[in-house]
Amino acid sequence: MGGQAVERPTKALSVGGPGRLQLGPGRVLLMRPETLAELQRGVEDRLGPKAPEYLYAAGAAWAHDAAKRVLAATGEEGVELVRLVCQQATELGWGEWRVEAFRAEEKALAVRVLGSPFAEAYGSADTPACHLAAGAVGGLTEFVFRVPAPCTEQACLVQGAPGCLFVAAGQEVDAADSWSW
Ligand SMILES: [Zn+2]
Repeated sequence: MGGQAVERPTKALSVGGPGRLQLGPGRVLLMRPETLAELQRGVEDRLGPKAPEYLYAAGAAWAHDAAKRVLAATGEEGVELVRLVCQQATELGWGEWRVEAFRAEEKALAVRVLGSPFAEAYGSADTPACHLAAGAVGGLTEFVFRVPAPCTEQACLVQGAPGCLFVAAGQEVDAADSWSW
């Protein structure tokens, strides 16, 4: 675990068979971001203020899984693991993910996402809309620091910001019952 950034080849999207796309060994699917935005609006219509929690939880689950696989494949931890998971999100077309800050002593992580497809497809709104990405950054922070780490999207493309900024900070509390998602 040195301080240097680890360069790894970008995985190419390949066809594994009829109706089967792969990114490396993992299966992926392509869908227009508008389809996801439609789904998000549907959940919001039904659930109102509870809706973001479900999208957040899905993003967190993705990040846990991605981080676990990257750790198993590379042995990287800490900021390198965070960079590699962000690289995966970028490769999946989830916008350009950049690690803005990694503060081990505060168990905090900030990620900036440029050109979020979630936001672009959603349109404009008064409050941030990238709940899935927020969950991913929160889940990644929790995986790396092993503490509950709620993530807030502090600025979003839908509000007219130039990019989306996600900030997660670990909470030093007794684990189990503090997980809000
Ligand atoms: Zn956003």
